[in-house]
Amino acid sequence: MNTSKPTVIILGASYAGLMACARLLHSKKPLNIIVIDGKSHFEQKIRLHETLTGQHTQTLALSPLLERRGVTFLQAYIEKLDIHNQQITLKDLPPLSYDYVIYALGSVPHQHIKGSAQFAHSLHNKQQVTSLESKIRTLAQQEGRIAVLGSGLTAIETCTELAATFPSLKISLISRQLKQTNLVEKAQSHLDKVLENYGIDRHQGTIQAISEQAVILADDQKIPFDLCLDCTGMVANPVARHSQLAVDEQGRLTVDGYLRLLGTNNVFVAGDAARSEINGELIRMSCATAMPMGAQAGINVAALINHRVLQAFNFGYFARFTSLGRKQAIVQFSDRADQSTRWVATDYLACLYKEWICKMTVAMIKWELITGLTLYFWSTSGVSTVVEPANQNR
Ligand SMILES: Cc1cc2nc3c(=O)[nH]c(=O)nc-3n(C[C@H](O)[C@H](O)[C@H](O)COP(=O)(O)OP(=O)(O)OC[C@H]3O[C@@H](n4cnc5c(N)ncnc54)[C@H](O)[C@@H]3O)c2cc1C
Repeated sequence: MNTSKPTVIILGASYAGLMACARLLHSKKPLNIIVIDGKSHFEQKIRLHETLTGQHTQTLALSPLLERRGVTFLQAYIEKLDIHNQQITLKDLPPLSYDYVIYALGSVPHQHIKGSAQFAHSLHNKQQVTSLESKIRTLAQQEGRIAVLGSGLTAIETCTELAATFPSLKISLISRQLKQTNLVEKAQSHLDKVLENYGIDRHQGTIQAISEQAVILADDQKIPFDLCLDCTGMVANPVARHSQLAVDEQGRLTVDGYLRLLGTNNVFVAGDAARSEINGELIRMSCATAMPMGAQAGINVAALINHRVLQAFNFGYFARFTSLGRKQAIVQFSDRADQSTRWVATDYLACLYKEWICKMTVAMIKWELITGLTLYFWSTSGVSTVVEPANQNR
């Protein structure tokens, strides 16, 4: 390895980490770029509910993809980020030193309900989800019962995908609220109709605990299951906490307007792992925000190294895409501040939109890395973001 070049280490090779790598490669100065991930392949996390039902989803082998551009890929488990000694601690490998680091370790399921870790499963990665598939297939043959917990996008996409693929399953969707906070009436009534057509049983209540065979609600009602999927939420990757870094209640690292970890000059954070605000609003964990944050983090590290001015991260929402099985979907259009508008697409058109978005995410990452061209663009908030003056020096 040529040590005269600055070493940039990217932690995590998913939506944020790979976009960061693609934009870092635009640097005029030569760099040693090392990307580290525990997996050998980029997996489409946004399609995990499809993997769960045995459908094929595209992956990208990281080593050939990155090494053709001179980037070193290291498949390893990251234990700690030591920002004082500028080192990454890896399991069973010697530590690595860096000049700059981009932390993009994303999120993990938040299995906070009592009994969840023991008796429920969640959608975490392809290997873990694939291991559940045969059990689900067997349950479908026996008209088994699956309880899906949560009211967010992951819970809705998971229970509808299961119902559409295995109509013999008896599926319960259990959550504190029946209505989605971010859908307008037309979208909500479409969702209600689709859930009803699939025969999904909806239970409203506060989940108190999960036992071996039942979900227990606060009013002591018990909903029996053969398999329980906890989709109640995500928290940021625990590596930040294990590294003794200050994190918020969701385990995220707070960044400045340039996506730089507060109090540092050479540590950037992107994707689900970052707590970032645009015009006073917290950015939500999503693939839609992870990709532009990753790109911006890569651009800003390259800017620092090339003695250019950093750019503040600017982002505007435009829609939420929810698949409801392969033949149904809802697209709830929003304004740039993520407030729902009256515009909604459903049925065939919404399926096309959603499928196109999923395909584009992986295509953008792949082709930016292969060609070195800027192919991916994102919408901005439309308002200039005011950020604190940055210390542009390392
Ligand atoms: C079923 C499902 C459906 C979803 N659908 C949508 C959707 O339609 N739209 C949307 O916007 N969002 C969706 N999301 C959310 C979206 O997937 C995440 O917000 C997004 O993946 C965040 O990207 P990221 O790059 O920040 O992190 P992640 O995708 O979480 O990636 C983190 C990477 O870091 C690696 N890693 C983590 N810890 C370690 C370690 N200790 N050592 C080594 N490597 C490590 C992981 O292997 C992974 O590659 C969905 C999520 C799920 C689960």
